[in-house]
Amino acid sequence: AKRDPGTSYRFYDRQLHISAGYQLRLETDLRNALRGGELELYYQPRIDLATEEVRGVECLLRWNHPERGLVGPDEFIPVAERSGLIVPIGYWVIEQACKRLQECTELGFPGLVFAVNLSFRQFHDRKMTETIFRIIFNANVDTSLLELELTESAMMHDPEYAQRCLRELNQLGISFALDDFGTGFSSLSNLQHLPISLVKIDKSFVQELGQSADAEHIIRAIISLAHSLQISVVAEGVETEGQLEFLRQQHCDEIQGYYFARPMPWQDLVEFMNRRNQS
Ligand code: C2E
Ligand code: CA
Ligand code: CA
Ligand code: CA
Repeated sequence: AKRDPGTSYRFYDRQLHISAGYQLRLETDLRNALRGGELELYYQPRIDLATEEVRGVECLLRWNHPERGLVGPDEFIPVAERSGLIVPIGYWVIEQACKRLQECTELGFPGLVFAVNLSFRQFHDRKMTETIFRIIFNANVDTSLLELELTESAMMHDPEYAQRCLRELNQLGISFALDDFGTGFSSLSNLQHLPISLVKIDKSFVQELGQSADAEHIIRAIISLAHSLQISVVAEGVETEGQLEFLRQQHCDEIQGYYFARPMPWQDLVEFMNRRNQS
């Protein structure tokens, strides 16, 4: 039967609510995907608003599914989290990011920060810091160029353990960003008591700029709060010049969004960087 690409994309999610069999099938497929090299990282540049330079990239998972084509993380991360598969997948992501970080030095783009997402579920692994330490030690990378992004809710399951992980990793030179900041229940004490050097303003606020005065107030407040604590701010989901201008006026540090670049495969990123270096 012919498959409509638009609907097949949601295939798993829909079925998930219908039968546990599909959940198992997806889990098996994902497990094989990890082993079979079907997972791939895409890289989305983050631009420094003051210098217009690419400060870093966020690593974003994609699944090259043999039948369904490119599948986005929203389709499979929830299942990976429920099944615990996100733990080995998460380590693979860090390993891959470290490899690319090394390549960057060889290619002549030193100093590029690689940001990797951490799932709440990875904090259930009691060997998290140990394993991450082994990965970065083997890869022999400059840990100050590695940034881990997590949401505040990721630490809720066992806040003390999570805090310890953050501190230990921070001592190795790794920095942390609070993702989707402003959604959920942000707690100011997190900013104060955790080794957080960056907050990422959720794209839902950025995309309401110009339509809602509240979004403006919230963004202003986040930036001023963060800056008063010496924390940098990245705005995500920047798609228009208008959004960019507002963020510039508010002294937002960096932006990430389709306006500058979409997430792209590694080869495209290398070309993107080469083009920028030449001009
Ligand atoms: P996130 O961490 O909030 O990542 C940002 C998402 O916003 C990405 O979606 C990115 O493609 C998208 N985005 C960036 N700029 C724009 C824009 O201008 N407009 C719009 N509409 N969207 C923009 P993506 O790649 O689909 O990832 C979705 C989520 O999946 C991520 O949200 C993150 O929570 C999760 N994810 C991705 N990779 C990983 C991973 O390696 N591990 C874990 N645990 N989660 C991951
Ligand atoms: Ca993120
Ligand atoms: Ca985010
Ligand atoms: Ca998100």
